[in-house]
Amino acid sequence: MTRIAIAGFQHETNTFAPADTTLSDFQRQGAWPALTRGGEVFRVFDGLNIPIAGFISACAHEMIPILWAMAEPGGFVTEEAFETIANEIVTGIVEARPDAAYLDLHGAMVTRQHPDAEAELLQRIRREMGPDFPIAVSLDLHGNLSPAFFEAATVVTIYRTYPHTDFAQTGARAAALLDRAMKAPLFGAFRQGDYLTPITAQTTEFSPARDLYAGLDRHGAVSLDVALGFPPADIPHCGPSIFAYADTQAAADAAAEAAAAHLAEIEPLFDAGLIPAAEAVARAMALPGPVIIADPQDNPGAGGTSDTTGILRALLEAQAPDAVVSMLHDPSAAAAAHAAGEGARISVRLGGTHTQYSQPLEVEVTVEALSDGRFRCSGPMFGGSEADLGPVARLRIADTGIQVIVGTERSQNLDQEFFRVAGIEPVEHDIICVKSAVHFMADYKRITPNILFAVAPGANPCDLSSIPFTRLRPGVRR
Ligand SMILES: [Zn+2]
Repeated sequence: MTRIAIAGFQHETNTFAPADTTLSDFQRQGAWPALTRGGEVFRVFDGLNIPIAGFISACAHEMIPILWAMAEPGGFVTEEAFETIANEIVTGIVEARPDAAYLDLHGAMVTRQHPDAEAELLQRIRREMGPDFPIAVSLDLHGNLSPAFFEAATVVTIYRTYPHTDFAQTGARAAALLDRAMKAPLFGAFRQGDYLTPITAQTTEFSPARDLYAGLDRHGAVSLDVALGFPPADIPHCGPSIFAYADTQAAADAAAEAAAAHLAEIEPLFDAGLIPAAEAVARAMALPGPVIIADPQDNPGAGGTSDTTGILRALLEAQAPDAVVSMLHDPSAAAAAHAAGEGARISVRLGGTHTQYSQPLEVEVTVEALSDGRFRCSGPMFGGSEADLGPVARLRIADTGIQVIVGTERSQNLDQEFFRVAGIEPVEHDIICVKSAVHFMADYKRITPNILFAVAPGANPCDLSSIPFTRLRPGVRR
């Protein structure tokens, strides 16, 4: 009986974000499960759209779950968090003595000591288990991968949608690819792209990324995948990468070259599509509602603080008659609203804790609704997953039609339940503002095709020329 150790350790690190990502950030629940160990992995992930869940469903072998941990994208992962979780994974694999391992990783994790953290993890496993030990990895489309990572993995497969609706499908593909690699040797080829693309331009909802991913099956490989990279990461291997596996080295090389050529060809077509916040609000007010305004530069799903006030100010200045905003990360405003109770009118300082991006908004609000912040996601990305965002409150800025939902846990609004938790049905409002770059589209595009990407300062700069890189490898354009 073949025995496979399985584990997950996901983080997307924005090295420019103001707050480090700690062990406690991995231990707590957010919009996905809290750190989960051992056999609990089978129970917690059953039926969820998460890579390890897809692997478990598709794998026909005995599985030994070690642990699974993920934190909201943010600043550098602390050495304590990395060492604690990595050690537990490596020790768990060594003690289980399995025939192979599957890892559910992101590919853009960075610690100050390990700028290539996933390669470090794989190398540690390899050192213990030997050069022939099969290691299959599934990755996020936003991974920043290196040759060292490619060398340490046996096979790699990557999400092919952004918004990522194919988490479980990718895990299932990793199971099939691992099986294939254990039956007969596969040859791998790795290439890196030499330009960065703004995150809002990477969506597979539109070209050019849609065509790039649709064409992957045409190049004759057993498996061919592309990561477009995660730009706000000041590391040498920031940028796109290509992983091909085939029955011969020549076939793997040819497939990787074909994907690299396609990637090179579409470079001029990636357009961030951003418009200034005031213009976005004016355009939204001129259109029949509902209209969605995304705030990609404050997307907590890319390390944003999720509490900037730029778009909120633009709504106030334009006196937008009916606008709803979710979710502003503001534990103290949520606590003040809970202390005051529904119906109360209170003075608050909303958001703006990191004044390099925006100032707090000092306003009177009425407390419209309170919630414990627990809900079940219902959209295509995390449908079925339970979220726990701590105390949540819906605040109406006094004497305006602008309502803001404040939450205690920083989490990306990628599901309409981020509004419903506080009693708002998004489709009923003229302007819907989301702290998200692209993932919101999976669920919200059902409401309206009228989507605007507004520019307000935040920790996820989508205008790549403004990012103060110092460590990109030579030749990487942006
Ligand atoms: Zn991603």
